[in-house]
Amino acid sequence: MGDSVRIPETTNIQDRLDKITKNYGMHIAVSITNKCPLECEHCITKSSPVADDSSKSQVSKLCDDLENLGGNGIKVITITGGEPYLNRNGMRAVINSVRGLDVKVAVITSGYWAKNYNNAKKFIELFPEIEAYTFSSDLYHQQFVDRETVLQGYQVAKELGKTASVRMCVSPSDLDSPIVSEMRELLGEDLEVQSIIPWGRAKDINEEFKYEDQVIAMPCVSDGPHIDFDGKVLPCCNALIAVKTEHPLDLGNINDSSLKEIYLNINTNLYLSFIRLWGFKPIVDFLNEKLITKHLSGTPCHTCATICSSSNLFNLVVEWLNEFENKLKIAAGMHYYFNDPTLLRNMKNEISEQLQP
Ligand code: SF4
Ligand code: SF4
Repeated sequence: MGDSVRIPETTNIQDRLDKITKNYGMHIAVSITNKCPLECEHCITKSSPVADDSSKSQVSKLCDDLENLGGNGIKVITITGGEPYLNRNGMRAVINSVRGLDVKVAVITSGYWAKNYNNAKKFIELFPEIEAYTFSSDLYHQQFVDRETVLQGYQVAKELGKTASVRMCVSPSDLDSPIVSEMRELLGEDLEVQSIIPWGRAKDINEEFKYEDQVIAMPCVSDGPHIDFDGKVLPCCNALIAVKTEHPLDLGNINDSSLKEIYLNINTNLYLSFIRLWGFKPIVDFLNEKLITKHLSGTPCHTCATICSSSNLFNLVVEWLNEFENKLKIAAGMHYYFNDPTLLRNMKNEISEQLQP
């Protein structure tokens, strides 16, 4: 038996588990296009007006799958892209596919359409079913869509009774900068701030992003899977989207399996279960013992994408997680924290064999 999993000692781990990871899967994000009228320098999906976009053919399959899934515990569906408003037929189809189910519809948009009051109102009224708007606006977006346009979209959405927020992606050193505090003054709790993660187009930004020296000890923060414009299903819509090679967090493709089947497999993915429970700190500690992995630092998502883009790294991790003792800890963790006995049940024979005198 090799190294076993060490659970990091963090004080807020239980809080995070309760608030986010325990409810994993109640949210699903669907990308209905990879095209976007903007071409932000930090875009993880490398979207642009001319981006490769096979989404139009996937949307009807996606909608059939969503209908067949019949809710399945999903409480919120977020329509994203690229820019979803470039595929308004796709938006309508996704909304119709969850009609009658107790599923709230949300959208993430650059708000390029909110140039004046009437236009903003017209676009929001196109889809009365959408309850929540997240507008993306930061220094990179503002090179294409100015701040006032986005604020106009935000205000009109509020006026029409929607939940609305603005999301900024900034360099880690700018998290408390005046650009952020000014927006915070205008928007209060309706401002979400995230660190730029150097993946996708952000990898080419000519700036060295300063991250913590250590990988932060916290679980994966995703609250549900993401279906990309090409049908690929990933555990989140974060840095992992930029990794185009195969990796152990690849949950499947709706062109090969139904969403129902993919959902059934999510809770038996050892790697995802582990990072939902304990994050990347123990994985990085393990890799550090095996190799020199100085580049593994900073946010969990950056670390996640770095490991998933290297078969040398993720093969070591997968082998380690599959050791009986580690697998058993993950299965027990899934049962204890997430009330999901599937992994433990799947290990029944293995456990009996190991317990044989
Ligand atoms: S608005 Fe969003 S999807 Fe479009 S280029 Fe910018 S970051 Fe990418
Ligand atoms: S990139 Fe990895 S750690 Fe980050 S949210 Fe996605 S699955 Fe979780």
